Amino acid sequence: MYCPFCRNPDSRVVDSRLSDDGSSIRRRRQCTECGRRFSTMETASLSVTKRSGVAEPFSRSKIISGVRKACQGRPVTDDDLAKLAQEVEESIRASGAAEIDANDVGLAILAPLQRLDLVAYLRFASVYQAFESLEDFESAIATLRCESKAGAQGSGPLAQTSSTTTLNN
Ligand SMILES: [Zn+2]
Repeated sequence: MYCPFCRNPDSRVVDSRLSDDGSSIRRRRQCTECGRRFSTMETASLSVTKRSGVAEPFSRSKIISGVRKACQGRPVTDDDLAKLAQEVEESIRASGAAEIDANDVGLAILAPLQRLDLVAYLRFASVYQAFESLEDFESAIATLRCESKAGAQGSGPLAQTSSTTTLNN
C-alpha cells in the first residue's frame, strides 16, 4: 500500500504483532522513501450482507450493541458481551465463508446468548425471529424448558459418576 505521508508505493515491515485473540496482525511499516512509520492491520476478510443487499465488514462492536439492548437490566457484564461477540465471530469464521448474511449473524448469536442469559435470549429472539404473539413466546419458552431438562440430565449424578469412573480407569 502507499505511504500515507508521501504516497511512495514501497514500505518495509519493521514489526509484526498478533492480536490477543489471534484474529488479526498489526504491522508497523516504514516508508522506504520518507522514512516515516505507519501501521497496518491484517484480518481475514469477512463481510456481512444486509437485507438491503449492502455488504459491510463484520464488526464485533455491532454484535455487542445489538445484544446489549436485549441485556438491559440483566446481570450481563461488558466482559460477557465481548466474549459473546468473540464466540459469534469464531463460529462464523469456522464456517469458512468470506461473506455471510445478516440473518445468519443473528442465528449465530442465539446459541451463545441462550447460554449467557435466558431473558436476554428471549428478548433478542423475539425481535430477531419477529415473534408476533404470546404463543410464539410460549413455544420458545417450552423449547427452553425441554432443553434445560435435557441439559440437567446430562450433567446429573449419573453423568458425573461415569466420568469419574473413566478417570479412575
Ligand atoms: Zn513516505
